Amino acid sequence: MDDYGTESDSDYTSYWRDWFISSRGNEYFCEIDEEYLTDRFNLTGLNTEVQYYQYAMDLITDVFDLDCDDEMRETIEKSARHLYGLVHARYIASTRGLTKMLEKYKKADFGKCPRVMCNSHPLLPLGLSDIPNLKPVKLYCARCEDTYNPKSSRHASIDGAYFGTSFHSILFQVYPTLVPAKSQERYVPRVYGFKVHAAAALVRWQNSVRGDMRRRLRKMEVDSGFKDGEDDLEDEDEDEEEIDEEEELQMQLQQHQLVEYRGGATAATGALVPVAAGDAQMGGVA
Ligand SMILES: [Zn+2]
Repeated sequence: MDDYGTESDSDYTSYWRDWFISSRGNEYFCEIDEEYLTDRFNLTGLNTEVQYYQYAMDLITDVFDLDCDDEMRETIEKSARHLYGLVHARYIASTRGLTKMLEKYKKADFGKCPRVMCNSHPLLPLGLSDIPNLKPVKLYCARCEDTYNPKSSRHASIDGAYFGTSFHSILFQVYPTLVPAKSQERYVPRVYGFKVHAAAALVRWQNSVRGDMRRRLRKMEVDSGFKDGEDDLEDEDEDEEEIDEEEELQMQLQQHQLVEYRGGATAATGALVPVAAGDAQMGGVA
C-alpha cells in the first residue's frame, strides 16, 4: 500500500495539491491521488456543484493554463478548494484514502480528545452533514464516542462535508482492531473527598442500567466492546448472576432429592451432592 503511494506521489509532483495540503489550516486533509482525480467515475455529479468546474479541476491537476485576470483567478482558486474538499470526502472513504487518513490518525494530526479520562486518545474528523455549506467539521473520539469542536478557528471553519458523516464509521469497519475498548473511567464529583449525594446516586443508577445492558448483550452473545474485568461492577454483576443460577440449581436439587427421599434412595446420592446441595437437602427434608 505504502509503496504504491510513494511511487505515484514521487512520479508526479503535484504543485497545487502540495501547496493546498501544506497550507496552514489544511492539516486535516490528505493528498488525493492523481489517479483518483482523473477517474471521472469518482467525480460524478460534482460538475454541477462547483463553479468553473473544469478550470478548477485543471488547477488541482496542474494543467491550468487559462490567461485570466486576478479576480477570475481568485474565483477559480476558490472553486478548486471547494472541489478538492468535495472529492476529498469521497476519496477518504476509498481504500487508498482510508490508508492515508489512518496514518494521519496514528500521528494524531486531527488532535487528541480533550476529555481527561480518554488519556489523549487521537480524534478523527467528522461531518455532521454530507451537504456542503451547512455544518463545519467536528472531531470524533472513538473512546468516549463523543464529538468535539476543533481547537483552532482555522480548523473550526472547514466545511464538514469535506469529510462526510460516514468516514469515521467506515474506518472502524475496515479496521475493526482499531476500535478502542469502551471508556469506563468516569469523573465522580466530590466535596472534601466525600461523594456529592445526588451525583453519586445518579452514577449508581447509570452503572446498574449499564450492568443490565451488558448482561443482556452477553446473553445474546453480542460483543459490547467493554474490556472484561475493566471495572468492579462487572464482577458484582457476575456474582449476582451466579447467585441466581445457584438458587435455581438448589431448587431443582431440592425437588429431585425430595423425590428420591420419598423413594428411599437419599443415602446413596448423599455422598455425591456438593455442599450447597447438601444444605438444600436439609431444607428439603425439613
Ligand atoms: Zn474521548
